[in-house]
Amino acid sequence: MTELLYYQNAYMKEFTAKVVSLDEEQQGVILDQSAMYPGGGGQPSDIGKLVNTAGDEFIVNKVVRGNIHLIDGEHLPEIGAELTGSIDWERRYKLMRVHTALHVLCGVVWHEYGASVTGGNMEPLSGRMDFEFERLQKDLVEEIIEKINATASEGHEVRTQILPREEAFQIPDLIRTKVNLLPDSIQEIRTVEIVGLDLQACGGTHLANTSEIGTIKIPKYKSKGGINKRVYIELEA
Ligand SMILES: [Zn+2]
Repeated sequence: MTELLYYQNAYMKEFTAKVVSLDEEQQGVILDQSAMYPGGGGQPSDIGKLVNTAGDEFIVNKVVRGNIHLIDGEHLPEIGAELTGSIDWERRYKLMRVHTALHVLCGVVWHEYGASVTGGNMEPLSGRMDFEFERLQKDLVEEIIEKINATASEGHEVRTQILPREEAFQIPDLIRTKVNLLPDSIQEIRTVEIVGLDLQACGGTHLANTSEIGTIKIPKYKSKGGINKRVYIELEA
């Protein structure tokens, strides 16, 4: 089991780790601990590099399920090797800003219009979120842009917590986001709270405060049939 350092501190850019095992088939490395996010919940995996004590560099082009760090080229570090890892931080921080902006969007749309989220996806500086939101139209989009920017600039703190499944199931906000659909095998649920706005089960990496998001734009939205609407967001570099 890899210790997930990004759960303790989403702002960790560098870390040390030891190689626990190799996945020769996937050209992958499993570490005792890592700050690299393996992707999930619409947030893509981190990329970065690992360097051993001899100074050999191993480029991580993706981290996949099981926290397997996939390496470019043919060479892998040795089992037991002590490595220093570094994340492509510029990219990750943009993802954290987009991810947190999507939580703000989700919270505002729920509180103001009662529309619930059905899915989402993100890239550095852009993302999209799907809602069951029948009455979404152009004039409403303008209003939403104003409200999400006003809310983000209020500087809401973002808190994460890990709760036993039963306890999480008692929280009304989590039930709304369909936490009860998580498989039985998941006994602990990580919650992300934008204090005063939004509480969700989420395993991704977020900002510490919404004031770091910057200006949020909604360049377009579209109907996905029936009551389903897709809203796109963009952030400034
Ligand atoms: Zn999240």
